[in-house]
Amino acid sequence: MKAEVVAVGTELLLGQIANTNAQWISERLAEIGVDVLHHQAVGDNVPRIADAIRLARFRADVVIVTGGLGPTQDDVTRDALAEVAGVPLERRLEIAELIREKFARAEREMPESNLVQADVPAGARTITPDRGTAPGIVLEVEGSRIYALPGVPAEMREMMEGTLLPELAAAAGPATIVSRAVRCVGIAESRVAELLDDLFRSSANPTVAYLAGGGEVRVRLTAKAASAEEAGALLVPFVEHVVARLGDFVTSISDEELEEVVGRLLRAAGKTIACGESLTGGSLSARLARSPGASEYLLGSAVCYDAETKRSVLGVSPETIDGPGVVSRECAAEMATGARKLFGADIAVSLTGAAGPEPHEGAPPGTVWVGLDAGEIVHQRRIRAFGDREMVVRFSEQAGLDLVRRLLEGRPLPQTEPVVH
Ligand code: ATP
Repeated sequence: MKAEVVAVGTELLLGQIANTNAQWISERLAEIGVDVLHHQAVGDNVPRIADAIRLARFRADVVIVTGGLGPTQDDVTRDALAEVAGVPLERRLEIAELIREKFARAEREMPESNLVQADVPAGARTITPDRGTAPGIVLEVEGSRIYALPGVPAEMREMMEGTLLPELAAAAGPATIVSRAVRCVGIAESRVAELLDDLFRSSANPTVAYLAGGGEVRVRLTAKAASAEEAGALLVPFVEHVVARLGDFVTSISDEELEEVVGRLLRAAGKTIACGESLTGGSLSARLARSPGASEYLLGSAVCYDAETKRSVLGVSPETIDGPGVVSRECAAEMATGARKLFGADIAVSLTGAAGPEPHEGAPPGTVWVGLDAGEIVHQRRIRAFGDREMVVRFSEQAGLDLVRRLLEGRPLPQTEPVVH
């Protein structure tokens, strides 16, 4: 069964509100195995709403319209529905009575104009509202079904849960859609797609989608089957293949954030961590601190933005500061070692670089050195991050966390230069 969501509201088109209704509806429909192939957003205008519904009817078995069922002049979804069905609006006395009662119970005077909410296209079924005053409207037009629901999220959800989802689940038969996300760091999205190309070229179920952003790539595998168990079982071999192909780059097969992965690994190894941060200004340790129970492994972080502070707090040598400078392998190494000693941690990670947009001490923006000191193993690597300051900082955090992840999982460290003390 195919469904399409038509969200009505000029404020959506002006960017004043996000279309969270469409997102929520799609999520719920996926859970019962209904495919959503398109979303539309349209302003408060009768001919345009009618066109959007006609187009949706043409492409889908079920159209879900949200918004525009209020009592004001700009709430025109009812008129558009009547136009699509080619029938007049008629006032439903039982709905009018219900609206009157709701106002009376709230001891509020009812503006007469509120009764337009009792106008529905002739022949339509209504869904009685519990919270609000706008009824839902259900119309059958030449073999396709159109549901119109209020735009207020709580009122929309009430009708989805109480009426639409049970009705659609019964009509669609037993089916559900389950997704798994494999996350990887340190590899480009295009390379991921190349490595998995043959695997998914021939597979319609599961399907694969790539989402890149925030210094990582998510490979989302989605399977459809009669039950969640069956869909899950379909995914298992695909997840295994993906992990085998992407190898050391895989950080999680259960959609965990990288800091959660690192926290889990630290806890399992019984190790503690500290940070020496320059360009990230504390955001690396803030991410580590996000997980519940982080106090078991996170000892602290020294934010040393200034060169002199790097020297006085973390013990970076004047020779390094005056020689290769603060954006250098030497500085990252000394910051990591300084942080490990300062906090008495098993592992320390450091980040120093040029966040941009200007070069820093001659280093182009996005040049970042990551340092690791785990006692037996010290390691530094340089990364070149692209984008604005925010993106450079995020990439730096990812590189720092991923180095720790690789260390704890016993995987090769990128650009390895281990020094045994
Ligand atoms: P009401 O009967 O309460 O007037 P309505 O059906 O007329 O509701 P709208 O007037 O279109 O709905 O929207 C009411 C409010 O609901 C909006 O101001 C907005 O806050 C929220 N809303 C509407 N559409 C959406 C949407 N697609 N996603 C998220 N929120 C929405």
